[in-house]
Amino acid sequence: SVRGLRVIEIINKIADDIEKNKMYLTELDAAIGDGDHGLNMSKGFLAVKEKLKDDDGNNIGDILKKTGMALVSNVGGASGPLYGTAFMKAAMVVNGKKEIEIEDFKQVLEAALEGIKIRGKAKLNEKTIIDALEPAVEALKNALDNGSNAEEALKKAVNAAETGVEHTKDIIATKGRASYLGERSIGHQDPGAASCLLILKTIYNEIS
Ligand code: ADP
Ligand code: MG
Ligand code: MG
Repeated sequence: SVRGLRVIEIINKIADDIEKNKMYLTELDAAIGDGDHGLNMSKGFLAVKEKLKDDDGNNIGDILKKTGMALVSNVGGASGPLYGTAFMKAAMVVNGKKEIEIEDFKQVLEAALEGIKIRGKAKLNEKTIIDALEPAVEALKNALDNGSNAEEALKKAVNAAETGVEHTKDIIATKGRASYLGERSIGHQDPGAASCLLILKTIYNEIS
């Protein structure tokens, strides 16, 4: 199981990995958007780090809620409310918990996906975060159903997200700024799907 203080460490690690990949994410967004995705994510997660500084780790729901609220209120771009809603929805399924198991994490990820879908009114194959997250959720569920342990299941989720990100290169964006490009968005991977993969990779690396 993973305890609250460990969840905070993992979120801080996500913030560090986002920071390291700030230019990369921004370059992806420069190709099909307005070139700020890395900056937006970095600003958001810096605020998250600050907000979690004195958290005692006793309620994982609180940790995720604070994370979501910091993202919503500190990111100007579309990704702030989307990731923010994801974390706030995820917070609800683990409210009051001091520690979580992989089954809880499965529900966390499902709730996050649901939150993003509702907030962004988007579905699979619209070249968004969902194209990384939905395959990851499906892979995680299947792996756990088939008896995989937490590490194996997370690895499968990361692999599925990776395939999903690759697939965003082949499709037309129909949501967000990239949709203004229409067919010209083909050939470029979606920045939000890429940041989602990054977050999942960090979680896997921290758990394994
Ligand atoms: P902005 O487009 O406002 O500058 P960002 O650059 O930070 O915001 O984020 C862009 C990313 O947000 C896109 O790459 C895409 O993955 C995601 N996105 C945009 N609109 C939606 C939506 N309606 N549903 C899901 N994801 C979306
Ligand atoms: Mg942008
Ligand atoms: Mg922007």
